[in-house]
Amino acid sequence: MSEPLLSVRDVSKSFGAIKALGPVGLDVAEGERLGIIGPNGSGKTTLINCITGFFRPDTGTISYKGQDITRLPAYRRARLGLSRSFQIPHPFTGMTVIENLLVPMDYGATSARKELENAEEILRSVGLAERRDHPAEQLSQLELRKLELARALAARPAILIADEAMAGLSEAEIDDILSVLFELNRAGVTVIMIEHIMHAVMRYSERVICLETGQVIAEGSPEKITSSPVVQKVYFGE
Ligand code: ADP
Repeated sequence: MSEPLLSVRDVSKSFGAIKALGPVGLDVAEGERLGIIGPNGSGKTTLINCITGFFRPDTGTISYKGQDITRLPAYRRARLGLSRSFQIPHPFTGMTVIENLLVPMDYGATSARKELENAEEILRSVGLAERRDHPAEQLSQLELRKLELARALAARPAILIADEAMAGLSEAEIDDILSVLFELNRAGVTVIMIEHIMHAVMRYSERVICLETGQVIAEGSPEKITSSPVVQKVYFGE
């Protein structure tokens, strides 16, 4: 197997006496669609925060493209290509959709024209091109989720971590977001999906990891995870 794009080794994190995570290990291959599931409090957010650099893990290492990034601050990981969309979108109000993309796009010495072209292409890729000049606060819930994905994509990440991108949406809207995420993946973005909507994460992912009390309790194809007795036990108590 070729070297993983992202590698998490023996990572753990505690908050006082509470062990939120680990030690856990996982690899993410380039171009993969990986789902991470687990009940509330199982450590998903803590894992993502350790990967993106929002938290410094207590133990273990995180490598990206073979480079140890465990001690790098979040903004440097973002520059290297790790990006995260948040569950609750917080667009800049009083700005148009495209302005929302141009604000955070301060990732290198590109020209204003290049930045604009980049922003327009990202809007097309998430299906927001015709909302380009709309005020962000006038967007529908679905469009806000797309804007949140677009903002996470503004820095042209290699890995997109989509944190509950579909919570509260209708089935048709979930389909819409899934198509956007499939298309991004086809375009080369590695996607890590943290999701509570089980049928969506199972449809999207090539591989699923289930966390429980900060540990990986199951890992495999969506079919394997869906029928796994340990997974069923944590979700349904058997
Ligand atoms: P999930 O995202 O799967 O719901 P979390 O990673 O948020 O799980 O939480 C894992 C555990 O760590 C929980 O017991 C939670 O209460 C605890 N925890 C998470 N963040 C903090 C924090 N900042 N301070 C104290 N405890 C926390």
